Amino acid sequence: MAISIKIKELRASLPQGVKLVAVSKFHPAEAITEAYNAGQRTFGESRVQELLAKYEALPKDIEWQMIGHLQTNKVRQIVPFVSLIQSVDSVRLAGCINREAERIGRVVDILLEIHVAQEESKTGWKYDELLLFLQSQEFKALKNIRVRGVMGMATNTDDEAVIRADFECLASHYNELKSHFGEEFDTLSMGMSDDYELAVECGSTMVRIGSSIFGNREY
Ligand SMILES: *Cc1c(COP(=O)(O)O)cnc(C)c1O
Repeated sequence: MAISIKIKELRASLPQGVKLVAVSKFHPAEAITEAYNAGQRTFGESRVQELLAKYEALPKDIEWQMIGHLQTNKVRQIVPFVSLIQSVDSVRLAGCINREAERIGRVVDILLEIHVAQEESKTGWKYDELLLFLQSQEFKALKNIRVRGVMGMATNTDDEAVIRADFECLASHYNELKSHFGEEFDTLSMGMSDDYELAVECGSTMVRIGSSIFGNREY
């Protein structure tokens, strides 16, 4: 199905207050342009080189988000233009983004990626370690990052009960943290092509959808 039709269908089906991030990784600039012409302005990428190339090539009113694992030595390249870094999962990465943002006089919005899935391989904070970090002086000193919320992924399984439990877990962490952060902490990023409806039921405010918009990726 055409990209523009998928975008319009998705936007119509998502409740008010749920933001659509079109995950364009591994898809060419032409595919992004088609989504852009259908009104989509927020795109997610998972690799720095690809994100840079697309940023250079495409309209400057696109909001680019980093959703994949980010190495500290690549932070400098994206900090000048990225609108949200969703995948902040370590003290070191948070510190590095803060330092680079400070260097160029920016405040960068981030999400804290929390690990709830059963797979060991999935990235993200263990919640108790995240709490320790958030209570530390080290965290309080980071003035050039603004924590907007939480991101997470459910276990890769067909068992809906497991997926729902993962999303409920993320939502409860989000709500607990929200009471400490206040107003600007407003983003719970969960839900992808196969599970976004369930994620929305569980309170997601941001879904990251790739293959149902752009088709399967060729790695
Ligand atoms: C690739 C990716 C997505 C999109 O996945 P689809 O199944 O194609 O919708 C969402 N979130 C993250 C973190 C990803 O890496």
